[in-house]
Amino acid sequence: MYDGVIQDLIDELGRLPGIGPKSAQRIAFHILDAPVDDVRRLAESLTEVKQKVHVCAVCCVMTTDAECRICSDPRRDPSVLCVVEESKDVVAIERTREFRGRYHVLGGAISPIDGVGPDQLHIKELLTRLNDPTITEVIIATDPNLEGEATATYLIRTLSTLGITVSKLASGLPMGGDLEYADELTLGRAFEGRVAALHATPAPV
Ligand code: ZN
Repeated sequence: MYDGVIQDLIDELGRLPGIGPKSAQRIAFHILDAPVDDVRRLAESLTEVKQKVHVCAVCCVMTTDAECRICSDPRRDPSVLCVVEESKDVVAIERTREFRGRYHVLGGAISPIDGVGPDQLHIKELLTRLNDPTITEVIIATDPNLEGEATATYLIRTLSTLGITVSKLASGLPMGGDLEYADELTLGRAFEGRVAALHATPAPV
């Protein structure tokens, strides 16, 4: 145990994902040794992201603008939506250059253990977007793990009445992993080989 503020810093750092007690201590002492300007920049950047970043009014991706770069890009195909769990998945898919449509970010995955149900995700916003007849296909690209699969199953069932084509990323992604950690080639292939989960049904005349 260290004196007050030092221990407070170690405790705060230790709450970050992937940072154990030893790393927290190492980072804390790195900060204590660092030039004051460096530390001020870090502190400013922490406050700044919280002040300036919010979710895109259309697709719920994290952005500093009212509408994100992808939603406001007229060259993106407005007929296809790719549904992902997190903003970082958008970055991973963009890196593959396989997808020219637009995104919808759920803000997580269904996980009863963590108290996350459909209502805690941006599914309502997705359904509202799908009222727009321009959108004819939804590609579900949730993580290849238990929660991601549960979310995909829920979405396929929920979208089944809308008469749009719903497909899901092909297997080949390492099960149990995170989409963002898949290498570009594997993720790109999963995109190309996406499998239909629901076909569009012709609208009643
Ligand atoms: Zn957007």
